[in-house]
Amino acid sequence: MRITDAQVFVGGPKKNYVTLKIMTDQGVYGLGDATLNTRETLPAMYLRDYLIPAIIGMDPRRSEDIWQFLYRGAYYRRGPIAMAAYGAIDTALWDIKAKLAGMPLYQLFGGKSREAAMVYAHATGADLEDLMDSIAYYVQEGYRAIRVQCGIPGMPTTSYGVSDKRGDTRNFITDYTGVRPRTEIWDTDKYLRFMPDALAAIRDRFGPELHILHDVHHRLLPREAAEFAKAVEPMRPYWLEDPTPAEDQDALRLIRQHSTAPIAIGEVFNSIWECNKLIENELIDFIRVGVTYAGGITHVKRIVDLAGLHHVRTGFHGAPSHSPLSMAAQAHLNAWAPNFGIQEYLVLGTPECDALFPSEHHVTDGMMYVSDEPGLGVDFDESEAARYEYEPGSHPVVRLEDGTMWNY
Ligand SMILES: [Mg+2]
Repeated sequence: MRITDAQVFVGGPKKNYVTLKIMTDQGVYGLGDATLNTRETLPAMYLRDYLIPAIIGMDPRRSEDIWQFLYRGAYYRRGPIAMAAYGAIDTALWDIKAKLAGMPLYQLFGGKSREAAMVYAHATGADLEDLMDSIAYYVQEGYRAIRVQCGIPGMPTTSYGVSDKRGDTRNFITDYTGVRPRTEIWDTDKYLRFMPDALAAIRDRFGPELHILHDVHHRLLPREAAEFAKAVEPMRPYWLEDPTPAEDQDALRLIRQHSTAPIAIGEVFNSIWECNKLIENELIDFIRVGVTYAGGITHVKRIVDLAGLHHVRTGFHGAPSHSPLSMAAQAHLNAWAPNFGIQEYLVLGTPECDALFPSEHHVTDGMMYVSDEPGLGVDFDESEAARYEYEPGSHPVVRLEDGTMWNY
């Protein structure tokens, strides 16, 4: 069996999905996702110019050897662009393998460990009252776990994950359009004075059962993160996400020494070498890597297995930039992983997205049900893809009030 050709498509409804389609001499094809949010043309170019020509003629069933060929063969290893490109190839090869087997992908990992996987929704509000309305909506929709993000009183601009307009609270997605980034202003002191009380009010209003998650989005210094984690511990959050940027991994030890609040990290990591010490030293509780830019299924499964040895559970990244292909790959991993925790999920089931990526995967009452179709269980409609073109975008940047650059 041989790989005969592969094509890359860039575009989609609201997001520039980078979709790889690998063809074989037996008519079976595989699909993968290399969408590196706001930098989408780079993994697309890496695939087209360097990787696709190198894998033509290879046996697509040898996914482990092809992964090692890509990773070890690059010399300049890792980084999000390369790992997204390898990940798309790897995911497409697993799709082919499971289609050949006539099985849904999760069967190749060892079968289901659960019938459905808990997801968390994104509640957001320009202020606390607005956020409460948003949480109430998702509770009514059946979600058992909800991430809560709130505008901070006195902050000169909107904060991470919230609109500056009241009522803009359902499936809010930050606007990344335009290649020149817009600027958000951040003030740690205002955040630390407001957010613990806000989380306490949410716990009071919605009771002990609701899983409450909060994303700090890399904004705090280690000591501040320790202070925050200690302050919110009585509210029993399901997790605090990215309390520090985590390049300084010892910073997590300081948080641990002061609080038992669960910590979730890893959505910007792209290899096991960025999280193995955090996992082995048991400094985090959830690992947040995504199949899209952490080297695909082969590499993420390796991270999941390491995490399982150290009581670290999965909480895969599920931002809207992950196409239904990598979300499907994660749905299969979630169905299997003995150390599954939770899956991030935004309701994106627009008719346009469903037409581009037809599938049977679905979320009902806050639980993700995996498709039983052979392979990933997602197809790709090329005639739909022809409707979309690449549109440049950029993440916002963050500055302190005096102009100092900060972490987005
Ligand atoms: Mg996050």
